[in-house]
Amino acid sequence: MSELDLQSVAAAVRRVLPPEMPRVALHEPEFAGREWEYVKDCLDSGWVSSVGSYVDRFEQQLAEFTGAGRAVAVANGTAALHVALILAGVEPGDEVLLPALTFIATANAVSYCHAVPHFADVEERTLGVDPEKLAAYLDDIGERRGGVFVNRHTRRAIRALIVMHSFGQPVDLDPVLELCARTGITLIEDAAESLGTYYKGRHTGSFGRIGTLSFNGNKIVTTGGGGAVLTQDAALGARAKHITTTAKVPHRWAYAHDEVAFNYRLPNLNAALGCAQLEQLPRFLAAKRALAEAYERELAPVAGVRFFRELPFAHSNYWLNVVLLDREHAAHRDELLALTNDSGIMTRPAWTPMHQLPMYSAAPRMDLSATEDLHARLINVPSSAALVRDPQPVAVRV
Ligand SMILES: *Cc1c(COP(=O)(O)O)cnc(C)c1O
Repeated sequence: MSELDLQSVAAAVRRVLPPEMPRVALHEPEFAGREWEYVKDCLDSGWVSSVGSYVDRFEQQLAEFTGAGRAVAVANGTAALHVALILAGVEPGDEVLLPALTFIATANAVSYCHAVPHFADVEERTLGVDPEKLAAYLDDIGERRGGVFVNRHTRRAIRALIVMHSFGQPVDLDPVLELCARTGITLIEDAAESLGTYYKGRHTGSFGRIGTLSFNGNKIVTTGGGGAVLTQDAALGARAKHITTTAKVPHRWAYAHDEVAFNYRLPNLNAALGCAQLEQLPRFLAAKRALAEAYERELAPVAGVRFFRELPFAHSNYWLNVVLLDREHAAHRDELLALTNDSGIMTRPAWTPMHQLPMYSAAPRMDLSATEDLHARLINVPSSAALVRDPQPVAVRV
């Protein structure tokens, strides 16, 4: 049994942070680039809303950076997930697998489709979906009938699996892809937290049939609010654009629409902000990597806790840094949260697991013991790029 001295943990975290800062936020945006210039240009041109060149430019920059064939900018990450599920063919009454340890948006998007969230367990190795455990579970509860994987107990189709790259750490995607190929279940990647994260040298969000991003104020790059749908499939990309822009039939003056669709487009004003932010992404990534290295260095000699480092197959964006209490010290998590927050260092636990929320308490699920265990002993520590000055540029291992 290891010792745990909460004061030593808090002191190690404090040593990583700039000493002159009395209060350190968990994650703050930084607008040190051309944000003012681009937003002003938007205002000067009058193109602030639904049409304008910054949306096209932002989409192009995103596709280029992620290696996705197409990026479609939308109003927020939740809308991106909703659209991804529609593109995946999720129908009312279908089931969609997703990790129980995620932000509420992943589950809510499934509900928007009148589909049923079905919770999968995560693994400590990646903090994301455990492919081996999920494969064994699916073999147990269902079978492939024609092209569709059917839950034998509920007789519903399990149409899609959403994996989420928690705090920027990538899920082990190869076994996930293999599982999806074998079962016919469509893979969606919720890459809201993993812009700048790679799995075996390839950008997350580009492996699934559809990937989604978020540019909320707390994400690595922000547009105020925003999101994007990523896909390699040109037809799906075109459809994503169509149904997020009210399904308007292109015409110089006529207003006609060919289906019930959504007004999920990203305003040009927000896209302008996004273009300026993306220009700074390499620096943000370098700063966050340096910050993670500093945490690892300071926390390595501290007993009772472990700093979460990327696996050999991963190149993480370290969006939010993770400290795990050893299992026998889980009961002290809230004391550590209180100690750090009281001293001006903002820390927080992971999201309450989905199956513990009232609206999802009756949802189907597999054994979620790893989710509950991780939730009990995980904390996030301050992770803003601005906490590191002049970071060394880093190359992605491919
Ligand atoms: C941020 C986030 C989203 C999307 O959030 P929006 O606020 O709608 O942009 C979705 N999933 C996860 C895991 C997230 O962290």
